[in-house]
Parts: sequence; C-alpha cells; structure tokens
Amino acid sequence: METEIYEVLIVGGGVSGAALFYELSYYTDLSKIALLEKYSEIAMLNSNATANSQTIHCGDIETNYTLDKAKHVQRTAKMIEKYCLQHGYENKIMFKHQKMAIGIGYDECRFMTKRYEEFKVLYPYLELYNKEDLEKIEPALIFDEKGRGRNEEIVGVGAKDQYTTANFKALSDSFIENAKLNKEIQADVFFDAQVSKIEKKDGIFHLETKDGRHFQAKMVIANAGAHSLFLAHQMGYGLDYGQLPMAGSFYKAHKRILVGKVYMVQNPKLPFAALHGDPDITLDDHTRFGPTALVLPKLERFRKGTYLDFFKTLRLDMNIVRIFVNLLKDKDIRNYILRNFLFEVPYLGKRAFLKDARKIIPSLQAEDIEYAKGFGGVRGQILDKTNQKLMLGEASIDTGEGIIFNMTPSPGATSCLGNAQRDVEKICAYLGKTFDAARFDQDLVEEDTHA
Ligand SMILES: Cc1cc2nc3c(=O)[nH]c(=O)nc-3n(C[C@H](O)[C@H](O)[C@H](O)COP(=O)(O)OP(=O)(O)OC[C@H]3O[C@@H](n4cnc5c(N)ncnc54)[C@H](O)[C@@H]3O)c2cc1C
Repeated sequence: METEIYEVLIVGGGVSGAALFYELSYYTDLSKIALLEKYSEIAMLNSNATANSQTIHCGDIETNYTLDKAKHVQRTAKMIEKYCLQHGYENKIMFKHQKMAIGIGYDECRFMTKRYEEFKVLYPYLELYNKEDLEKIEPALIFDEKGRGRNEEIVGVGAKDQYTTANFKALSDSFIENAKLNKEIQADVFFDAQVSKIEKKDGIFHLETKDGRHFQAKMVIANAGAHSLFLAHQMGYGLDYGQLPMAGSFYKAHKRILVGKVYMVQNPKLPFAALHGDPDITLDDHTRFGPTALVLPKLERFRKGTYLDFFKTLRLDMNIVRIFVNLLKDKDIRNYILRNFLFEVPYLGKRAFLKDARKIIPSLQAEDIEYAKGFGGVRGQILDKTNQKLMLGEASIDTGEGIIFNMTPSPGATSCLGNAQRDVEKICAYLGKTFDAARFDQDLVEEDTHA
C-alpha cells in the first residue's frame, strides 16, 4: 500500500493541508491522494482552537489592511462561511458574534471614522458606534470598576450579525471527513507520519518518515506550518529565506466580560495583530485576551524539541543580523519586543498585560485574569535575506518542479480554502488534470467577491 505512487502527497494536516485535501477530492478528477501528518490527530499545532484567536479575518475590522488586501481576504473568508453553511456547521464550527475595532483618543477616533467611510463600500453592513452606542452594546469598554464612564473619546466600527469566529480544528476535521465521503477517489490519511526526507528521482518524489515508512508521489505540497521552510531548505529551495518563529500567548478571564470580539487599532509598524479580547468558543463563559508576540527559538509551541530546526531555518548570516539590527533600531518595535517578553514573566507579566488590556476594558482587575497555560501557537515569520527585511503575512515557494512549500502565519487559517484553490489550480496544470472551477465557484465563492 505505502509504495504505490500517489498523484499528490500533502505534508502536514493543519487547516491548510486539510483544506487542500478536501478541494482535491471534491473539485478535481484526481484518483489517488494522501496526507501525511506528524501527530496522531489533525490540526494539533497552530490550527488547534486553543492555538489561535479563532477569528475569521475578513478585512472589515483589521485596521492594518489596505482596501486591496481587504478585498482579497474577504474573498477567502467568505469561502469558509459558504463551506460551513453548505454543510450545516453554523454554531458547531462557525459562530456569529458582535465584532468591532475601537479607536481611543482624538487621532485613533479620526482614523477609525475615516476608515469606516472608505471601507463601508466593501462592507455595507459596517456600523459606526459612538460612546453612547458602546455603552449599550459593549458596556465593558466604557465603565471602570466604580461604574464611572471613560473620559477619553472612543469610537467603534463593527457589525452585529456576521460570522466572525471559527473552530479551525473542527473545520480541519470536517475537511478530512467530507473528503473521505467521495468514494471516487482514494484519499488516504496517515498519522504519526513525520516526513524526514524528500527526494526526487526519475520524476517521482520519494518521502521517508521518521519511523521508516516510504511514500511516493508525482507531486508534493508541504503545508507543514513552520516546518515547510525547514523541508524546503533540506531540498535546497528557499535558501534566500530565513524564519523567525513568533509565538503568541493569551491571558484569560473566568467570566464573560465582552459580548463580542473587540480589536484595537493596529500600530502599522508592528507586524502582528493588535491586542484584542473576545469570548472563547471552546471555554464557556471565558474571555480571552491576546495574542502576545514573543520570539521563541523553536518551531512548535508546547512540544518537545525543534530548537535545532529553528536554528537551521533561521539561516543566520550577516543579512539576518542586519534585519534584526534594523528592527531593533526602531524604538516602538524594540519596546514592543521587550514588553512581550515581560508578558511571559510570572507576576510581573500579568501586571504589564493588565495595563494594556485595561485600554480595552477599564474595569479589569489583576484578579480577573490569568496567563492561559497551554494556549497559543507559533507564527513563522519569513525573513527575506535578499531584500533584508521581515516579510509580513504568508509566503509560498513554488519550485515549478512539482513541489510547493507553503508558509502560513496569520491569517492563514482564514485563507485556507483560498490558498488551497491556488494550489489545486497549479496541481491540475502540472499533472494535466481538471479542476471543476464552475462547481467550486458555485459552492464556495461569494458572487460579488470573484477575483
Ligand atoms: C497566536 C496565534 C493567533 C492566530 N490567530 C488567527 C486568527 O484569529 N485567524 C486566522 O485566520 N489565523 C490565525 N492564526 C494563524 C493560523 O493559526 C495559521 O495560519 C494556521 O493555523 C496555519 O495552518 P497550517 O495548516 O498551515 O499550519 P499548522 O496548523 O501549523 O499545521 C501544520 C501541520 O504540519 C504538520 N507537520 C509539520 N512538519 C511535518 C512533517 N515533517 N511531516 C508531517 N507533518 C508535519 C504539523 O504537525 C501540523 O499538523 C494565528 C496564529 C497564532 C500563532
């Protein structure tokens, strides 16, 4: 069984690999595909519900997105919504919450009001909330512990009736289950299958797993999260990239303080999402705050090892050193990095974090929150050695030789179906197979978001 030649092998069973597995089985005429996952279950790393912020980032309240970027993410975010509606996953995998981004103080309030005017063309449901509105719909933003109202000016821009939240682990599981329902394709999943070596011989890829299993395929897609670049480097690809793992942690409160998701205005210099608070869909009546951003010398959070893998994928040289020096020259970035280290320190971290979280919820007290142990993940940020800069967002190395490596920091979970579509088209072109674009569009693409 294991020595047969698959048309496509996917390495990595997070939400990206699972989405691709689903699309290949549903929308192509391929007959034999497989997915190899290192752990014994799907989506145990960054796609797990406890690892990420569970947000369907559709661009309406992400204040660091330009209108163009927003259009792009809106298209892919809508795919998740359409998929979940098609399969009846409302309130099981995908949830509606109120959501908003808030501006505090004169500058941020002007910024948010201007952004609202610009973005409501793309998102007609967006609403602008003043202090009185917020008192009614999200009172924790306004009142302090003594019930006194906030002094500073505040506005919110958001929506009340949109799908905002997904359990990306449950979504990943559903992709695999639904893919396997199609009996016209052999779609195999192998667990505890950590790919340790990939080689191409006579046009066929040979993959070896750590426990000695051997697989063959005509095409390989590495959706191995922070390990995609590690595998690429092993094969001599992507050598002009290094990778900086940025861990994200959370704090949590044992009560429901917020009605919905509340994001803050993003500092455009900082590459990671602004602090936010929201009800956690896996913990009843809890509020989660975060994520923080912490440089961590390993590729997997809460798992043993991967320190050596980090050093290998960093590919430390003078170009990388220059990127770090340039980043640290900026006072805002320097303070941000130090502050995020502090958030991990027992006792002091909580006090420092509380100060930031109180910008959202003025009444929050130290006894209300605790460090959320075991929550968080790693965003592998790509360092572009040629241009000596930290790349923001996702990256994909398409070798044009039958193997693709995908690196998917945030909002990679939201864009899983869109990224998979891009790869399905490439796979079909490479293997001479057919992608049923009409059916795909009908099922998953919202009419007015066609690319
Ligand atoms: C703190 C934090 C908050 C985030 N919040 C959001 C959010 O709100 N919304 C959003 O859209 N995105 C968010 N993200 C990003 C999102 O979690 C990721 O983009 C997404 O989970 C990436 O999915 P993936 O399948 O590409 O990678 P992963 O989920 O990391 O999966 C990779 C898989 O590959 C497997 N693997 C690795 N190496 C091998 C190997 N050698 N052989 C076989 N298998 C292997 C791993 O075991 C794993 O299962 C957040 C990320 C973090 C860290």
